[in-house]
Amino acid sequence: MKTETRVVSAGRHPEQHFGAVNPPVYHASTIVRRSMAEWREVRTRIFDDVVYGRFGTPTTKAFEEAVAALEGADRAVAVSSGMAACAAAILSVVKGGDHILVTDSAYQPVRKLAENFLKPFGVETTYYDPAIGAGIAALIRDNTSLIWLEAPGSQTMEMQDIPAITAVARERGVRTGIDNTWATPLLFKPLDFGVDLSVNAATKYLVGHSDAMLGVVSMRAELFEKTKITANFMGSCPGSEECYLGLRGLRTLAVRLRQHEENALRLAHWFQGRPEVNRVLYPALPDDPGHAIWQRDFSGASGLFSVILEPADEAQVAALVDGLEHFGLGASWGGYESLVLPFDPTDYRTVTEWRAAGPCLRFHIGLENPDDLIADLEAGFDRLRAAG
Ligand SMILES: *Cc1c(COP(=O)(O)O)cnc(C)c1O
Repeated sequence: MKTETRVVSAGRHPEQHFGAVNPPVYHASTIVRRSMAEWREVRTRIFDDVVYGRFGTPTTKAFEEAVAALEGADRAVAVSSGMAACAAAILSVVKGGDHILVTDSAYQPVRKLAENFLKPFGVETTYYDPAIGAGIAALIRDNTSLIWLEAPGSQTMEMQDIPAITAVARERGVRTGIDNTWATPLLFKPLDFGVDLSVNAATKYLVGHSDAMLGVVSMRAELFEKTKITANFMGSCPGSEECYLGLRGLRTLAVRLRQHEENALRLAHWFQGRPEVNRVLYPALPDDPGHAIWQRDFSGASGLFSVILEPADEAQVAALVDGLEHFGLGASWGGYESLVLPFDPTDYRTVTEWRAAGPCLRFHIGLENPDDLIADLEAGFDRLRAAG
């Protein structure tokens, strides 16, 4: 089955819902049983049946089934946010006394989880250069239990040689987890490249409309129960409404992503031609340092990239950003709309020095007509120069 068809059909069971095309939003905590015998019997099937709201409703399970099918995974565990998915994946394989390796380009709250939460429980974290590849072998210790990847990296957009890292991890018996939010399961399938746990902040492209918080972890059958139990102990159950929105978003993901990629490529090339721009960080660009790996492993690009401006002061950047009509200034991304966000990786990078010529901006390119976005930014650059 081709991807577009799978996106439309995965996890759908109209026959279970009076023929309704989409599963209803089941509002349920208690699931009542007819007898002691049935109650006892159901307790043996907590991972497969509908037993209690925290373990998931039929809506939750439809979302999980669809995501697992798209990831090429055996199972998926839906949780209440992308951050909850990172936490559930990490905590399902890490215990006190362990050592973990985290890419220096990781989503910043994952670093905070390591520093503020894992460290007091006796888990030591070493950050590594995202470009390390097979060199990761030198950092693995006897107690290393997890290598955490993210490609392209949050904000700085470095690609990683994922198969090189997972090959070493497999050989050394170390688990791997990846934050696959940028690519979604449509553009990169981590499990096919040897990754054990694939995380998606479904809040972004899967939901796709900037109106729900949702996360999901996908895995082979072997790691499912541990992840599910971990998420459950953390109380991290998504609402059925959110899972419904995740499923509904998923149905149009293939066409949305194609348009995000087309628009983002147009904008990225346009930025490259601007005198106010020093560099564009986007692996889909042929001159990006991560382009070869991206082309080898990924089947497309989403609409998120970063731009390093030529030196400009805060007032100039504010003149550019504040007057934009079509770019909202806000966290998150992956919705249908364009966004812009200033960032400064020098604040948190620890093992790879980050040197940027000027201020950095992250752009999410939405589904607007790119001509309008370019006109908006042209006016923005006029304001930036006038403020200089
Ligand atoms: C947004 C984001 C998350 C967290 O998702 P939430 O749903 O906001 O908790 C995790 N990883 C990446 C790469 C993200 O961009």
